[in-house]
Amino acid sequence: MRSPPPVPPLRGDLRPKKIGNRLAVDDPKRRVRVPIDELTLQIMECLADGPMSQDELAAELGAPRIELQRRVRVLTQQLLLQTPRAAAVLALSREEPGPIDAETVALTFDPKLRHACVACGACCHGSDIGPLSDAEVAVIEGHDWAPHIGRPVPAAALVQTVTGPSGAPIRLTGHRDGSCSMLTADKLCAIHKVLGPTKKPLVCQEFPFTFTRTPSGVDVSYSMECRAWWKAKQAAPVGVDDAPTVRALLARGAPLLRMPVPVPVTSGLDWAPDAWLALRAEVLAAIDAATDHPALVMAVLGPIRAAVTRSLEGYATSELFATRDAWAVPMVDAVDHSARFFEACARLDGLLDEGLAEIGQGMVRRGRDAESDRVQRLRWATRALLRGRRADDPLRFEHEHELWQDMARAALQAHDPVRRGGLVQGTATLVLRLMTGHLFAGVLATTALRGRISEQDATDALVLVTKMWRGTALELLLGSVAKDLAHVFFWSGDVLAVGAAPRPLPSWAE
Ligand code: SF4
Repeated sequence: MRSPPPVPPLRGDLRPKKIGNRLAVDDPKRRVRVPIDELTLQIMECLADGPMSQDELAAELGAPRIELQRRVRVLTQQLLLQTPRAAAVLALSREEPGPIDAETVALTFDPKLRHACVACGACCHGSDIGPLSDAEVAVIEGHDWAPHIGRPVPAAALVQTVTGPSGAPIRLTGHRDGSCSMLTADKLCAIHKVLGPTKKPLVCQEFPFTFTRTPSGVDVSYSMECRAWWKAKQAAPVGVDDAPTVRALLARGAPLLRMPVPVPVTSGLDWAPDAWLALRAEVLAAIDAATDHPALVMAVLGPIRAAVTRSLEGYATSELFATRDAWAVPMVDAVDHSARFFEACARLDGLLDEGLAEIGQGMVRRGRDAESDRVQRLRWATRALLRGRRADDPLRFEHEHELWQDMARAALQAHDPVRRGGLVQGTATLVLRLMTGHLFAGVLATTALRGRISEQDATDALVLVTKMWRGTALELLLGSVAKDLAHVFFWSGDVLAVGAAPRPLPSWAE
């Protein structure tokens, strides 16, 4: 039998350190901290001077071969050894694109995503509006709004100060009967009516646009939190983009999201921007071609999963030194893939249910009952989905499929999948949103004792899953269950979407 390839040396730029009573190694190139244990540290010390065979490492450290193999695999996946994958990933440019010139920057629109506000006032209801700048607060507090908003309102009640996620105070518009304090009885904005649209807070002028800085310009998308999305889409002229409005908003300092460079895919794998942009174009074309909801989920999942698999498989030969075979560790007995998949569903169900219940209770304690209700609804839909319930109501709003296509398009156009914990986790989250939203639209109709899903049911479900899963608390919750989330909604998402049989989980996803 040929001897296995030796374990490559440690990268020269790494220094393990102790943080409290824990060990970690900081990767200065990828700017990540990898937690390690004592045995991993010993392996790293052995490999600091050059490659070593598996037998040499086992003799030097006297630890069980399976424990050594596991740690060498983690060092490989985390790119801490001198492997071809580490060399390829570390060679990627990390230069972020610079500031933009709003007048000349290249803007990219998706022509299928259109929006013209129909002034229904729904986005001014049940949401915090802010943060407000000093100038925006001065506009609100420096005017007598009583003739316009129906009753005298003390200036101090028009703006509220709350503690933001970082602990710093932020200012928001006040609330009156659950709506923005500046909303008038005819559901229009008093600032817009009296002082003109450009005097409104920038966040209101910008809604529901989102802008993402890419290496070549700015991609324009929508947050999909407009409760009149379908009507607003119909009201928008076909073939006319909003470039002048967008340029004016960018010139006024509208915030830019960033497409990360290089693009994070999964632990130990990044891509050059072009690889992600080409894949995104492929996925957008598949979304356009999907004719029903299962096909839509697979349009998102299929090409991305295939590309990630191809990318990781490309390093399989050069990483043979980390396999069980190379370490002569006996292979595990046949694994029951169905059982593993359903165990992951059950774990995810329990953790998400518990996390969502806690978030909902926190909202009740802070007097935010409407938001707590939304969390409970999301909790119900997530639990139902993970326990095998399928959205099979045939009486659906006839354009509902287009709404879900729009949600997927908007997410891709805003680069959502690569901005939230890497492409694998981001795609899993998008699939979760698509599936819970589709299921939830039926629930809204049922709880209203209607046999048909209305346009509003479908749009409300779309808004619910978009708004809730992007919140900080829910995003942290998803991050804490990343492994099971990826197993269920990325590596095995077709089990839920099209009822396929669970497949083996690839070794790099273990
Ligand atoms: S919910 Fe949509 S259509 Fe209604 S006011 Fe807001 S942006 Fe306009």
